[in-house]
Formats: sequence, C-alpha cells, structure tokens
Amino acid sequence: MTTTLITGANKGLGLETARRLAGAGHTVYLGARDLRRGTEAAHRIGARAVPIDVTDDESVRAAAKLVGDEAGSLDVLVNNAGIAGTARPAGETTADDMLTVYEANVFGAVRVLHAFLPLLKASPAPIVVNVGSGLGSLAATVDPHARAVVPDWIPVLAYSSSKAALNMVTAQYAHAFPAMRINAVDPGFTATDLNGHAGRQTVAEGAEIIVRMATTGPGGPTGGFFSAAGPIPW
Ligand code: NAP
Repeated sequence: MTTTLITGANKGLGLETARRLAGAGHTVYLGARDLRRGTEAAHRIGARAVPIDVTDDESVRAAAKLVGDEAGSLDVLVNNAGIAGTARPAGETTADDMLTVYEANVFGAVRVLHAFLPLLKASPAPIVVNVGSGLGSLAATVDPHARAVVPDWIPVLAYSSSKAALNMVTAQYAHAFPAMRINAVDPGFTATDLNGHAGRQTVAEGAEIIVRMATTGPGGPTGGFFSAAGPIPW
C-alpha cells in the first residue's frame, strides 16, 4: 500500500493528480486548506481529506500528526499547493508581493517537507515531487534558445523567482537525502483557476509529469527538473 499526500489537491492539477494516484491504488491524503471543499473533492475520487494550509506551521504539524497516527509513514509527498501572486511588472512588484508568493510556493514546500520528514524516512522508498514551473527556469529566462522548452514563457518576477527558488530547494533536498527520489516538475501551461483557465493544456495533460514522477520506480531519477517531454534546463 502506497501512502500519498498531495497539497492543494481540492482542485486543478492537485485534484487530477490525486484522482490518478487514487485510481492507481494509492491511499491518497488530499490536502486542502478548506476542509469542506477538500472533503467534497476527496469523496468524489475515493481519497481522504486532510486540512493543511502550507503557510501555517500549526496546520502543517497537525496534518503530519494525522497522517502519522493513521498511516505511520509517507511514501509520496507532492508539494503542489501554489499561488500565482501579483502579475504586476517587475518595477511595480514590492517585497511584500514577493513574500506572499514565497510563503506559499517556497516556504510552504519547505514547511511541509520538514514536518513530514520523519514519515518520509519511515517509508522504504520515499518520493517527493515539487510542482514547479518552466517559468522558474533561469536558463529559459536568460537564453532565448533554452526558451524553446518553455513555450509559454512570460516575464513575471514574483511567481517565476519563487519557482526558481523551489528548484534550488529541490536540488538541495535531493543532495541531502540520497535515499529519496526528489524532483521538480513543470506541468506546462494548464487551464486552471491559477491562470483564469487561460492555459492551453487540460489538467489530464498537465498532471502527466506529476503522476509519472510520483510513481517513479526504484532507480528512478532524483535531483532533476522535468516536463512531460523530458528534462528541462534549470
Ligand atoms: P489551482 O487550480 O489554483 O490550484 C492551486 C491549489 O493550491 C488549490 O487547491 C489552492 O487551494 C491551493 N493552495 C493555494 N495556497 C495554499 C495554501 N496556503 N495552503 C494550501 N493550499 C493552498 O492551480 P493549479 O494550476 O492547479 O496549480 C497547482 C500547482 O501547479 C501550483 O504549484 C502551480 O504553481 C503549478 N503550476 C501550474 C501551471 C498552470 O499552468 N496551471 C503551470 C506550472 C505550474 P484553494 O482552493 O483553497 O485556493
């Protein structure tokens, strides 16, 4: 039995990932900061809702206790919860704007991984998937040739730099925990609430790489950054 937690899974890419992994036989803890919406979503796909706001230490600690008490270990952690934050141009983006986005997209992933580390270490083959973005690729940002792998690249300071930070967080954790498989993924531009459903892909297409990395077998990659098409330049 594989025990899996997905944060921000009441809708969008997280919900689709939860649906697929539950269908594959995982015991899925569907993380949602609103328990009512989480419970409704979990009910539809045969998952178990767990309240978790990734910006709140106490909420994350309580979620880890709930999963620990029930399951005793965690095999797969998908750090999916994220926000777009301000779309204002770089010159108009403030430090407070950045802090808001980093709280969810960067510190949230760290807070969750840190709290669940004992449960991940109790798994025989722990996997962590950090849901990043091609917009977080430094290479695609500075090199127009590299941008070909991020076809929907746009300049946006707060969100993109938060996802670049999440990439380094991923690489550092992969270095620190060689017994775990820890990767960052880019789902691609997907129609969800995050972008007012402007994305070109369906959630089924976007969740593909998340599911693939969440189910990578022994000997699978670690410390990498992947889209559905393959590795992406950092
Ligand atoms: P979405 O439909 O807006 O879903 C985002 C999820 O994150 C929601 O469940 C939301 O909960 C949750 N969330 C936000 N802040 C949270 C917090 N503080 N604590 C717990 N949950 C929180 O967007 P999505 O497109 O599926 O995004 C999922 C991930 O994919 C994000 O990390 C995003 O950056 C990444 N991504 C998306 C795209 C794309 O084109 N859609 C592309 C690349 C990467 P509420 O319902 O309560 O707000």
